[in-house]
Amino acid sequence: MNSNEIKKLDSEKIVATYGRYDLVADSGKGAICRSVDGKEYIDFTAGIGVNCLGFCDDGWVEAVTAQLKKLQHVSNLYYTEPQVKVASMLTERTGMKKVFFGNSGAEANEAAIKTARKYGSVNKGIEKNRIITLNNSFHGRTMATITATGQEGYHKFFTPFLDGFDYCDANDIDQLKELVSDDTCAIMMEMIQGEGGVLNLDAGFVKAVESICAEKDILFIADEVQTGIGRTGKLFAYEYFGVKPDIVTFAKGIGGGLPIGGALFSEKCCDVLEPGNHGTTYGGNPVACAGAVEVLTRIDDAFLEDVTKKGEYLREKLLDIPQVKSVSGMGLMLGAEIEGKEAGQVVKDALEMGLMILTAKDRVRMLPPLTITYDELDAGLEILKKALA
Ligand SMILES: *Cc1c(COP(=O)(O)O)cnc(C)c1O
Repeated sequence: MNSNEIKKLDSEKIVATYGRYDLVADSGKGAICRSVDGKEYIDFTAGIGVNCLGFCDDGWVEAVTAQLKKLQHVSNLYYTEPQVKVASMLTERTGMKKVFFGNSGAEANEAAIKTARKYGSVNKGIEKNRIITLNNSFHGRTMATITATGQEGYHKFFTPFLDGFDYCDANDIDQLKELVSDDTCAIMMEMIQGEGGVLNLDAGFVKAVESICAEKDILFIADEVQTGIGRTGKLFAYEYFGVKPDIVTFAKGIGGGLPIGGALFSEKCCDVLEPGNHGTTYGGNPVACAGAVEVLTRIDDAFLEDVTKKGEYLREKLLDIPQVKSVSGMGLMLGAEIEGKEAGQVVKDALEMGLMILTAKDRVRMLPPLTITYDELDAGLEILKKALA
């Protein structure tokens, strides 16, 4: 099919939940995506922070296909080696104790929310468990996670939403203290609000959250679905803040392009969920886990240092562009505050000129593959400059 045939069928046959851009992707290698029309694009999106090793990385393809030829799926009623490998790698590198595997970011957060509520009920005797999240946050699209998402725009149409969520302004320690009650079982937040505009939390606020949680026996949940797995130059962004969350959720980057997510639990809450409490058919699928083993193997200290350097390079070059007023984010998760043109229009114009890039609220957001080269960064920046002009 050519691109027009595909776009026509898409509009007729697929529910229009996405405002799609004018690119029909066909193949890719590294940070280059090729359309069905044969046009090449530099990728500053990595599938929204998913393809951390880029398109079709050789080592990743090999790891995934080797597993695919051996065993594609078995019920979670049985054991598999790829699952325990990923769990071991994640727990060893974070000091967390155990993992629950799901298939997406929303599912990772659902597992965290259920764990927090059971922890509140069983360990603290709370009947009306409440969870504090932040205004302008994003935690997913399921009923619980859109309720957790502190943005009015998501709280329409699908009534009734879940009870038990309170919303606090990011970085407002006084407001947080007021919201915390005897019914609070957890505080959940992104270290950098991704969909909310690539907004970094203040270190002092994150530290305060940690100490309030410790003092009141409240679970501190870090949603690292977008910030995790090397994206910011650390395995997880919470490491920058010198804190230790009780639950860390992850997804996007970990599978290198295959659907896998999950939650890491500290000693305090790693045995809250028991047989029958929670589960999913596909969670921790062996092929997705084989991809995750490759991703985690590759993201070693030297790799992370490289991400930090490339992030600094990209930030500096962005700040040299006259229309860029400021740059937020960390590592290779950056948001450019721009003037003179609307972010959505910049993204459309950049695509036309051969660069895939994202928005986050009124910012232009960049989440390139972590393996992107300096030449590719330069080429993408040249296009971005033209699109901003
Ligand atoms: C993308 C995202 C989610 C949701 O992940 P899905 O895989 O789309 O369900 C949750 N939290 C954050 C911070 C995200 O960026």
